[in-house]
Amino acid sequence: MREKTPLSPQIGDTDMSWKTLDDMALKGQRVLMRVDLNVPMENGRVSDDTRIQRLLPSVRDVLDAGGLPILLAHFGRPKGKRDPALSLQQLVPALETAFAAPVVFVADCRGPAAEAAVAALVPGEILLLENTRFHPGETQNDPDLAAEMARLGDIYCNDAFSAAHRAHASTEGIAQLLPSCAGRLMQAELSALEAALGKPDRPVVAVVGGAKVSTKLELLGNLTAKVDHLVIGGGMANTFLAAQGHDVGKSLAEHDMTGMALDILAQASKSACDIILPVDVVVARAFQAGAPSEVVPADACPADAMILDAGPKTVALIGTVLEAARTLIWNGPMGAFEIEPFDAATTAAAQKAAALTKAGSLVSVAGGGDTVAALNQAGVAGDFTYISTAGGAFLEWMEGKVLPGVAALQSAGH
Ligand code: ADP
Ligand code: MG
Repeated sequence: MREKTPLSPQIGDTDMSWKTLDDMALKGQRVLMRVDLNVPMENGRVSDDTRIQRLLPSVRDVLDAGGLPILLAHFGRPKGKRDPALSLQQLVPALETAFAAPVVFVADCRGPAAEAAVAALVPGEILLLENTRFHPGETQNDPDLAAEMARLGDIYCNDAFSAAHRAHASTEGIAQLLPSCAGRLMQAELSALEAALGKPDRPVVAVVGGAKVSTKLELLGNLTAKVDHLVIGGGMANTFLAAQGHDVGKSLAEHDMTGMALDILAQASKSACDIILPVDVVVARAFQAGAPSEVVPADACPADAMILDAGPKTVALIGTVLEAARTLIWNGPMGAFEIEPFDAATTAAAQKAAALTKAGSLVSVAGGGDTVAALNQAGVAGDFTYISTAGGAFLEWMEGKVLPGVAALQSAGH
């Protein structure tokens, strides 16, 4: 088998160099926990508490060990200004229910009020600090803000893998100032990615779909050098078909990106990466549920139609590739899956991957906002080896980038 480099510079190490809560003496310690509280809200209430549920293991472990959990998080994009609509205070009832413990809220994440609230905290309580992004220094990774936040704790625990691709004061700067460790969710994400993809069993196949080539250029570039087969689907495949000189009619396609698409094909052939593009496609005249559709060869899209999904021959081809593969990494749906019947290829490919995973012949890892929604819709998310709910961080990890929030945990001296 040809030699390929690990998918990401942050994996491939057999011993991982970051600490976990198990390595820290927590009793009586103030534990500043960076968490992801970006839950969806409806009418001032949390409408889906999945993200809160995922924090339970870390918060419980700190409480059970006699530590004082102090939650640090951003919420939305207040752009460095106080915005009552984006106050974390509105999450207190949902947090108290989930944690089954009292949650004290303080209207700043730094300064005298926060320091007083920390000093008054008693074992068994959880302190929730206000939205870190109310301060412009958060996204600027301002060392003064990081230092002011660090004064509130004895230990820093980062449990927000989904924010680890940003070098912000609460994700990166602060980790340089306190003994630091990964929380349980961060640990689960990193361990799963490491286990699945550190030294992946080959052949490795990547499935990349979604709307646009332009948003996933770096991803495609990294993958061509690292995987054995690269399936390109979704709207971005249209740009590749156009680059190969096929008429894509009214399809979503980036005609100014066709040169880039040809570059990716050339890179792939240099790296002996086999590219799989749609051989047949589902076309329709309208982007509507139940719009009349037909299957045509990939080079025969009518001028007045648009490509909205991959066709059955393409699905069969993807199935053959998956059967021979040992590892799958997937980001991006194969078609406009939100609208029936254009979810068919994504659903069929997902079911195939899930069945092979269950049968033990495939390790399957998927991530991305719409990808997770599509796999849930297909009813197979539970059968994948691992599903990352971290959109941007998962993508940057797949792009082979070092995630600053993880790098800060790995750096020496902690
Ligand atoms: P993810 O969030 O998993 O990274 P993307 O955001 O890149 O995925 O892509 C998902 C979007 O791509 C979906 O909204 C889907 O409708 C769209 N899409 C996929 N295929 C097509 C197509 N052929 N035409 C138009 N839109 C498409
Ligand atoms: Mg998306």
